[in-house]
Amino acid sequence: MLDLFDFDSVADEVDQSTPDSKSICQFSGDKNEILKKYFGFDSFRLGQQEIIDTIINDEECKGVLAVMATGAGKSLLFQLPAMMSNGLTIVVSPLISLMKDQVDSMVDKGMEACTINSTMTEKQVDDVMSNLGDCKLLYVSPERFKNEDFVNSIVRQRIGLFAVDEAHCISQWGHDFRLSYSKLKEAIKSVSPARVVALTATATPEVQEDICRQLNMENAHKFVRGTYRSNLKISINQCSEDNKIRSVTNRLEKLIYKLRDDGVKNPTGIIYTATKKYAEVISRHLNGIGYRATFYHGGLGGKARTNIQDGWAKNGGIIVATCAFGMGIDRPDVRFVFHCGLTGSISEWWQMIGRSGRDGKEALCMTFFDQTPDYELQMFLLNMTNPTASDIKRFWKWLLKFAYRQVEPGAKTTVVNLTQKEMSSKSGCYNVGSIVSFLKKRNLISTLGRGKYRVMLKNPEFDFAALDELRKKNIMALNNVLDFFRSDCCRMAYICEHYGDTTFVGRCEGCDWCRKNQGNLT
Ligand code: ADP
Ligand code: MG
Repeated sequence: MLDLFDFDSVADEVDQSTPDSKSICQFSGDKNEILKKYFGFDSFRLGQQEIIDTIINDEECKGVLAVMATGAGKSLLFQLPAMMSNGLTIVVSPLISLMKDQVDSMVDKGMEACTINSTMTEKQVDDVMSNLGDCKLLYVSPERFKNEDFVNSIVRQRIGLFAVDEAHCISQWGHDFRLSYSKLKEAIKSVSPARVVALTATATPEVQEDICRQLNMENAHKFVRGTYRSNLKISINQCSEDNKIRSVTNRLEKLIYKLRDDGVKNPTGIIYTATKKYAEVISRHLNGIGYRATFYHGGLGGKARTNIQDGWAKNGGIIVATCAFGMGIDRPDVRFVFHCGLTGSISEWWQMIGRSGRDGKEALCMTFFDQTPDYELQMFLLNMTNPTASDIKRFWKWLLKFAYRQVEPGAKTTVVNLTQKEMSSKSGCYNVGSIVSFLKKRNLISTLGRGKYRVMLKNPEFDFAALDELRKKNIMALNNVLDFFRSDCCRMAYICEHYGDTTFVGRCEGCDWCRKNQGNLT
């Protein structure tokens, strides 16, 4: 029977099932040669070399956390070690479009990269899984680890590196929390990679700590590099609510004229607004005065959103959008990011303006805000997503009362035929969506289809501690934005300090504060 065995694959299996699989994973080759050969770059950018060296030499697998600005070149931090490793590199990424772009560009350059995602057929997934031996990098979404077959196949592979991209999504204190990210700790444990790296553009020291805790790498090597972006010209302006649209348009017109003089005919830029309605209003206003602008927000259908985002990614132009827009976009020539109002956190704002000037050329990042109404609006949005304990108690009391009206005595559950909108108007709670998701997580409500919910008829003891803490943190994050916008110092210096980046000292000479304090404010 022996000749039926494929000896190579048996040997591989024996190797990989050894508990100490880390020791058999090696990184070899000349970094600089690989950089040139596969990536076509002559030199490393700030931070890249030291971080890559640390990853390769992290034999104890303490983990590496890299916080570097958008566009700084974080992908190379896992792509290059992947090419040096004799194992597979798994890259966890939150967006299918992000994965596809990276895989396509790596394959174009002759590297073996692949992805498994929800748009693929079972057959396509099987094909990828059965050819994993030929693959250097596998891109997956965090949700993929829910699939047992996937995890079972992966644990049999020799995993050189486990990279968590957009790692701030793992932290509830980050600005973009994703539940499925919180399961990655277990995934890493089962996969047992030789190295782990987490990457993000925006993480305060507190979020950095949280990321490391969530990924079980408390003693990770931390790098905060390249926060300072010399080509971003930041300017933060207080203006009255009534004047806001005019201020934005005036500044935009000036910029467009200047860019036209510089030969940029159809400038590309983003104007962020806090609400869907405002995005439409500004877009309409711009079109009314002769500038082509589109709008984008979460209220549009999925297909419309994809079309708008793809259209913009391809053709550029002006887009007026809510925070729903922008993650994963990679247009190098975004010449401006304007903000109309406040954001929920400094990180959200920084991530948004970080989308400009990725080509290294100058980009203007202007913010216009009116303190009181904009703060109130943000508080309203915060309340929508962070219900208070009393909001929840009040709603639950109302819902039980409503449900009891229509049940037989002794029943344990009942079905309520109301949409969230109807619940909202009947209960008087405006943040029903987030209350319902709180109750769903506690199995007190489950969705049965559009406008139908199964409700548990009981009166539980709620634990609001985590909810209260999150709410407090979010309020603090909002207050920090206001403090920052009103601060009296160099904007870049403030941001670098905020992220604990000690590599930038002094002032940027490009922001509104620096220019004002040179006496030549434009
Ligand atoms: P991030 O993930 O930090 O936002 P990316 O990894 O997407 O940034 O890189 C941004 C751009 O910088 C990409 O076009 C990439 O090819 C380029 N890049 C990365 N490293 C280098 C380098 N050492 N030299 C030149 N270009 C680089
Ligand atoms: Mg990236």
